[in-house]
Amino acid sequence: MKPIQDSEAYRDKIATVDETGKRLWIFPKKPKGRYYNVRTIVSIVLLAFLFITPFIKVNGEPFLLFNILERKFILFGLLFMPQDFHLFVLAMLTLIVFIILFTVVYGRLFCGWICPQTIFMEMVFRKIEYWIEGDGNAQKRLNKAPWTTDKIIKKVSKQAIFFAIAVLISNTFLAYIIGIDEVKRIATEPVSQNWQGFIAMILFSGAFYFVFSYMREQVCIAVCPYGRLQGVMLDKNSIVIAYDHIRGEPRGKIRKQKNKKTSTAKAATTPESAVDMLPPLGDCIDCKLCVQVCPTGIDIRDGTQLECVNCTACIDACDEVMDKIDRPRGLIRYDSFAGIETGKKKLFTPRVIGYTIVLGVLLIVNAFLLTSRTNVEVLILRTPGMLYQEVDDTYLSNLYNYQIINKTKDEFPIELRLVEEGGRIRTVGEIPNTKAADVIEGAFFIEMDRNVLEGRKTRLTIEVYSEDKLINRVKTNFLGPVK
Ligand code: SF4
Ligand code: SF4
Repeated sequence: MKPIQDSEAYRDKIATVDETGKRLWIFPKKPKGRYYNVRTIVSIVLLAFLFITPFIKVNGEPFLLFNILERKFILFGLLFMPQDFHLFVLAMLTLIVFIILFTVVYGRLFCGWICPQTIFMEMVFRKIEYWIEGDGNAQKRLNKAPWTTDKIIKKVSKQAIFFAIAVLISNTFLAYIIGIDEVKRIATEPVSQNWQGFIAMILFSGAFYFVFSYMREQVCIAVCPYGRLQGVMLDKNSIVIAYDHIRGEPRGKIRKQKNKKTSTAKAATTPESAVDMLPPLGDCIDCKLCVQVCPTGIDIRDGTQLECVNCTACIDACDEVMDKIDRPRGLIRYDSFAGIETGKKKLFTPRVIGYTIVLGVLLIVNAFLLTSRTNVEVLILRTPGMLYQEVDDTYLSNLYNYQIINKTKDEFPIELRLVEEGGRIRTVGEIPNTKAADVIEGAFFIEMDRNVLEGRKTRLTIEVYSEDKLINRVKTNFLGPVK
């Protein structure tokens, strides 16, 4: 087979910008097909999760809250405080590793199926646009048409609905930051009493409206850092939405192909060299439907491009064409460049399975750390720079500092008990009740019978009780004389 001629000229321009640098507005044809249907269902589930979650409470606390302003984070009803920062760092590291490994293996699967930008753009705003203004070509015609009453009604109603949805999204995102009760309060009380919250809502709404009514695919193409990183994360084994150039090329109109077949039949009576000049066409009939449905305006037949958000619209469009011309589906499909070149349709290679296992292990470790985290954290340290003191002929004492972090929303008393025999705890003043989401600190002495000490260092265990309920157990050392 002849090598495919790749001019790479498509890399010199962006489909959404003309030679003068002016933005070319994309009017994608409405997608339809099996992938689009599944993506619609997935989007409904994710949107329901996004909009319902702020209303879910666990023991009076939000199910999820990311209050960066007050440094208060709640995951699955569990309160995380600045003291849990190590968990946050670990989770972030896992997320970065996860994103890199996931992208190396599965390409931009996230962009097409989970990313809020794609879901809102393609499954909410774009659907409303199709509903009000019609399919891509109808939208193009409407844009060029003079301003009639019909056009004004369509344009104004579309923008009004867009802004209303932007307000809804903005309030939902705010609910994840300050909590749904606070959002309700800001929305229902006079503006003069909550002008800061009101300004935040307006700014958020304006930003979402701008993104979905004007910026659109430019967010994925030029703004999103994840999109920009694709070039360094993908390799020839990454699974992407790819055009099978081996099967599709040389492309050509189906009529031409028939002509060529006719010509080939005629050529049976001509010299062999003439027949050789008429190579058979590939499966791509150059209908350009895959280009027309693309929301970023690219031609996937040119090869994998940064602009591709893996929305699957071109797969559906091409499958429909293949059905009509009675060729197998999958001329555009999920596959790797290597898979297409070798013709081996093996998505789950040992490398993919290995990466998936690593990802799974990381997720399990994180889940374990999150679920095994205690609600009351106790830190007990011997006061630095202090040796033992003699209390009397029998007892020696060490001074300790304690820090108790209450990650619950309850207030409760604290009591420290020494597990080992021959010793006692003497607090410096009373240990105060721990308040909700609060930290208490103080000092206490441990006095040990010198006869039970094991030497310079004796290992001790302190149990922390609240109303006779054991809530934590801490190990520490007691310093004594060398025996
Ligand atoms: S939809 Fe399929 S057949 Fe039509 S141009 Fe695209 S790849 Fe070729
Ligand atoms: S090339 Fe295909 S998958 Fe990629 S953005 Fe365009 S239509 Fe979506």
